[in-house]
Amino acid sequence: MSPSAATDSVILPGHCEVLVIGAGPAGSACARTLAQGGVDVLLADQHAFPRDKVCGDGLIPDAYAALTRLGVLEQVMAQARPASHVGCVGPSGGRIDVPGTMAVLPRKQLDDILCRAAVAAGARLLPPARFESPLEEAGQVVGARLKVGDTSHEIRCDWLVLATGAVPQALIAADMCERRTPSGIALRGYVKNDAMVGRITALDVVWHRRLRPGYGWIFPCRDGVFNIGVGIAHSHNTLKDGRLGMKDVNLREVFAAFTECYPPAHELMAGGTLQGELKGAPLRCTLEGARFSRPGLLVTGEAAGTTYSFTGEGIGKALETGILAAQALLAGRDARRDDAAVRADYESHLRALKPRFDLYEKANRVNVHPWLADLVIWRAKKSPRVLARMSGVLNETSNPGNLLSFKGLRRMFFE
Ligand SMILES: Cc1cc2nc3c(=O)[nH]c(=O)nc-3n(C[C@H](O)[C@H](O)[C@H](O)COP(=O)(O)OP(=O)(O)OC[C@H]3O[C@@H](n4cnc5c(N)ncnc54)[C@H](O)[C@@H]3O)c2cc1C
Repeated sequence: MSPSAATDSVILPGHCEVLVIGAGPAGSACARTLAQGGVDVLLADQHAFPRDKVCGDGLIPDAYAALTRLGVLEQVMAQARPASHVGCVGPSGGRIDVPGTMAVLPRKQLDDILCRAAVAAGARLLPPARFESPLEEAGQVVGARLKVGDTSHEIRCDWLVLATGAVPQALIAADMCERRTPSGIALRGYVKNDAMVGRITALDVVWHRRLRPGYGWIFPCRDGVFNIGVGIAHSHNTLKDGRLGMKDVNLREVFAAFTECYPPAHELMAGGTLQGELKGAPLRCTLEGARFSRPGLLVTGEAAGTTYSFTGEGIGKALETGILAAQALLAGRDARRDDAAVRADYESHLRALKPRFDLYEKANRVNVHPWLADLVIWRAKKSPRVLARMSGVLNETSNPGNLLSFKGLRRMFFE
């Protein structure tokens, strides 16, 4: 039987309480939390799992916290490589290691663990199914049209959750997209180089004028494999610069520049073996670019813009907002709230995260003006208080305030 004949004969459920589209961190976290709360939840993704996802694979403290809340941290850490610092490297080669609780795990493994955890809690995973459009009645979303192989299926649900990541097609189809262009783009590869084991142990993030308006990274995985990549942000700051838009940048050239201007990247590539190809993907940042909800529908994770500008980290907030979406639905069910009250609850929780996203947006200045990284690194090396504040922001134990705004930078020099 051909694969398409096999999928054509699939019989999908006709109804569920919540249909979650996208089994990345946001969708799986949402589905697991809902299933744990006793909700009848279907989880759909266009790909069969385990599937690859282009990412730096870095788990920063917010991801750690969310994985703990989901009860999967132990499973994740059984496969991940722990890291205790982010190594910030400036254009002049200065370096400061900011302490935090972190890890690196390729997304193929991480997302598989999360998806399985959703199923273990009782969510039903559909065979690979592509979301095509919502089903609507009088302006209310009442289900979704999915494509399995060549066949269209309709599933009705009380709530539809879109956790479809940075590619905007699903948002556009659901009339939720406010901006089609991504906030950033990034490119990564896996390199095996046993000689570098023990030499790159932190999550190294590198700024240099040849990487403007972006940055490079090297994150150590297990077994002598490193995730190496470059990203650029198309932030408001970048736009003001005039000359430095995403359309002007060839990421492969930026990647080549990274391996020339950062000696460990050069060594890693020169003595290592690239595993697979370099692959690029878009980012949606700063809680912008999409509506968060409409009657019968919630948008969560990177589809709602939950990736941090400046660093491109988004796994933690995808998990966190997936949990928030589930909690709003559970609370709504328990208190018999109407649709509008559930959506207001969810949106208010998302908005409460906005100041943190705005801080990272402001920090994009460092990508546009990398000499600022030299300045911050120089200052943090001299002042334990400044380093402690940077660590507090990374670990989300202190209020970001204006640490990386011009005002914050000025203050930094007087404390
Ligand atoms: C190169 C790069 C490096 C990055 N590095 C890091 C990093 O080191 N650390 C970090 O925290 N973040 C990083 N990020 C950001 C991180 O990848 C995202 O923030 C995160 O994946 C968002 O999770 P999500 O669940 O919202 O979306 P995704 O992980 O994108 O999951 C969305 C899912 O929806 C499915 N889907 C989409 N459309 C449909 C449809 N129509 N029908 C059915 N299914 C659909 C997709 O197949 C996918 O499985 C990086 C991003 C890039 C591009």
